[in-house]
Amino acid sequence: MSLLVLKFGGTSVGTTDRIQNVADRVLRLRGEGHAVVVVVSAMSGETDRLLGLARAIQTRAEGRELDVLLSTGEQVTIALLSMALEARGCPARSYTGGQVSIVTDSAHNKARIRSIDDHRIRSDLNAGRAVVVAGFQGIDEEGAITTLGRGGSDTTAVALAAALKADECRIYTDVDGVYTTDPRVVKQARRLERITFEEMLEMASLGSKVLQIRSVEFAGKYNVPLRVLSSFEEGPGTLITTEEERVEQALVAGIAFNQNEAQLTIQGVPDQPGVAYAILGPIADANIEVDMIVQNIGADNTTDFTFTVNKNDYEKAMEVLGRVSSTLGARKVAGDTQIAKISVVGVGMRSHAGIASRMFETLARESINIRMISTSEIKISVVVDEKYLELGVRALHDAFELEREPAGQS
Ligand code: ASP
Ligand code: MG
Repeated sequence: MSLLVLKFGGTSVGTTDRIQNVADRVLRLRGEGHAVVVVVSAMSGETDRLLGLARAIQTRAEGRELDVLLSTGEQVTIALLSMALEARGCPARSYTGGQVSIVTDSAHNKARIRSIDDHRIRSDLNAGRAVVVAGFQGIDEEGAITTLGRGGSDTTAVALAAALKADECRIYTDVDGVYTTDPRVVKQARRLERITFEEMLEMASLGSKVLQIRSVEFAGKYNVPLRVLSSFEEGPGTLITTEEERVEQALVAGIAFNQNEAQLTIQGVPDQPGVAYAILGPIADANIEVDMIVQNIGADNTTDFTFTVNKNDYEKAMEVLGRVSSTLGARKVAGDTQIAKISVVGVGMRSHAGIASRMFETLARESINIRMISTSEIKISVVVDEKYLELGVRALHDAFELEREPAGQS
């Protein structure tokens, strides 16, 4: 008998009918002989509704009381699902995060899980019950309710699967898997059978919002086989797993992109030790995260320095840069928000040369100018003008033949 942890997101439990469907699915899996722990999100829109209530009282609602409020959304769903299971003759128990000791730190609204006491869940499973656990919430050492950040139910599910040493953690959602790229941009995008944790992290951090990033990190760290699949259709979904188990021969797993960044340049700064720190120190102090960084080779004892930040931080970063610029005696500060980042992602890059040149050749053929380049072991990213985003993604998807099933796929 295998143990499965299933997670159903807001859309999948958005109405009582859908909750009934989830109960039917749980029954089918139990009928096939699996022991089942279910993690649920709040009904779709509920967390936003609660946030709206909080903000009507306190514009910048945050902290302890916000968590008390937001955690109620999931409490509704666990009760309804357990009722639906009981109505089908399936013994079930629902638990809040605190009741199964999902202990977190005290960082309200973005807490991290520290430990889980699985003995209660195990004894329910041993007694033949289905266990239903509220996602997104925990309890700190003082007993205060905490939440894990938006989308946190994914992390609850993975953490429970790790604690219980489950055979698989299945994330049921409104898409039927992870795709080679966004199907809204490339019609021929293909669902991947498998992808590695690392590739998934790169794809997710670049805006493929299928899973909360932290849940993928967690799954990779504890080696929890993670499957993303549709709660509305039957199908195998996409298995996220280790590199050893990834049988696909493709060099590239997918093309990710991101339109949420802006570019800033400070020109004509002195080419001397400490300059990068003089520029990026104040940016970090302003709590602005920097993504790509490029510094030119100096000429005439001066150099140019370019980096990207999230668009939300653009104004703030420009302000900081203005100040830095006068201290450093820089020639000019410039910025651009009309940019897009496109990345080719794949663990195959580790052992194969030529991916980068194929990427650059493809973009050149489409006359797309590359503004910045950065690489990691399994990713090559370029920044281009925003207007070339779709053209670039389509051309790359084509060039790496991602619409075709690679040989050796299971
Ligand atoms: N209900 C929470 C949210 O909307 C957690 C989740 O859905 O995973 O962010
Ligand atoms: Mg969600």
